[in-house]
Amino acid sequence: MTYIHDTITKLQKTSPAQAEFYQAVEEVLDSLQPILETSEKYQLHSIIERMIEPERQIMFRVPWVDDQGKVQVNKGYRIEFNSALGPYKGGLRFHPSVNAGIIKFLGFEQIFKNALTGLPIGGGKGGANFDPKGKSDGEIMRFCQSFINELYRHIGPTTDVPAGDIGVGAREIGYMFGQYKRLTGNYDGVFTGKSLLWGGSLVRKEATGYGCVYFAQYMLEAKGDILAGKRCLVSGAGNVAIYTIEKLYQLGAIPVSCSDSSGTIYHEAGVNLDTLKELKEVRKVRLNEYVTAHPDAKFIPVADYPADGNAVWRLPAELAFPCATQNELSEADAKALVANGCIGVSEGANMPSTQDAVEVFLDAKIHYGPGKAANAGGVATSQLEMAQNASMQRWSFEEVDEKLKVIMKNIFISASETAAEFGEPHNLVLGANIAGFRKVADAMIEQGVV
Ligand code: GLU
Repeated sequence: MTYIHDTITKLQKTSPAQAEFYQAVEEVLDSLQPILETSEKYQLHSIIERMIEPERQIMFRVPWVDDQGKVQVNKGYRIEFNSALGPYKGGLRFHPSVNAGIIKFLGFEQIFKNALTGLPIGGGKGGANFDPKGKSDGEIMRFCQSFINELYRHIGPTTDVPAGDIGVGAREIGYMFGQYKRLTGNYDGVFTGKSLLWGGSLVRKEATGYGCVYFAQYMLEAKGDILAGKRCLVSGAGNVAIYTIEKLYQLGAIPVSCSDSSGTIYHEAGVNLDTLKELKEVRKVRLNEYVTAHPDAKFIPVADYPADGNAVWRLPAELAFPCATQNELSEADAKALVANGCIGVSEGANMPSTQDAVEVFLDAKIHYGPGKAANAGGVATSQLEMAQNASMQRWSFEEVDEKLKVIMKNIFISASETAAEFGEPHNLVLGANIAGFRKVADAMIEQGVV
């Protein structure tokens, strides 16, 4: 305990004002206690001290010209956190809340998540405090080109392979790839999440959501339960939430909610997937418009949310899929979920539950799939995209989906077997963190002091 406290205190001094990063580190260190106590080699090699310090942090100015002719400036980041297992791999997030602490928490989580997939990828993350909301297509393109004018020199198919995250989808990847190609002359797999027209992989778009549902299915099946017929809460309305909802329907479950920054939709009859896709993928508008097409659904505006949490988690359901963003599920939300009969949580977003909320789930002994295990299907399928690009092949939807299922199953097995090995069979936080950590730590030791 003092070791964790000392490490966080030191981090607060050396990397000030990075609350989300401390939160992510603390959770991992907490899980690692049993292994750090018994294994001297990790201490001798200062594995923790090295792991919490990124190998390289690139921060840069991103100037661009808006439609009024005014020059705008944003902050760009790429944190190359750990390359013990392979080239840095992780998405880019464009959102006004982005700062060094957010990108570091995401990059840190990515190390363990990527290790858990069993694929040869290291961990990294990047982004900018750029708000794509309300921007024209031309503004998005100019921003992406300016971002790459700096980043291109740091990335490559065997060094660092960015992808999407919040605010970065196929359109942004297209503009960034185009500018990278222009500057380097290389047509290679330097990004994942590319369009299917020019090197993208089938299932990549769906993979995070599908994977998160497969993970829930494996958690339930391990205890002799099934997903079919379960009522499910989903938060978010982006790529992850949409394809979580799609897969829930395919497997016979009933998703009854979704949400965005304007509020929450509660549709007891089941969220209409076509309407959701139309609003979010085609028209790109706020969710309040959903009720125009479905007057039997309820819209809860953000102004009506409880002071200590998020309205979506106060609704009754058996399963919850947080697919929006970090810390969107508070301790009070977790208590409400459990009190309302929720028996399982599978996280599509990165670190959506606060540390206190996670404690509530673990104490209640409900199924809890932490993000770094449950949402690893996205990055895993990115690696499948890299493999197809490198071998100049194109796999079918069924082939990629089958590989995704196997990867998610293996992640579940690896996290649950490791949890059992350390005497807490239900604790997949502990299992996922230790399983991921061991792979990275042992590779670091074998590669020497670098
Ligand atoms: N942004 C996604 C994640 O959090 C995907 C990263 C990737 O595909 O490289 O894992």
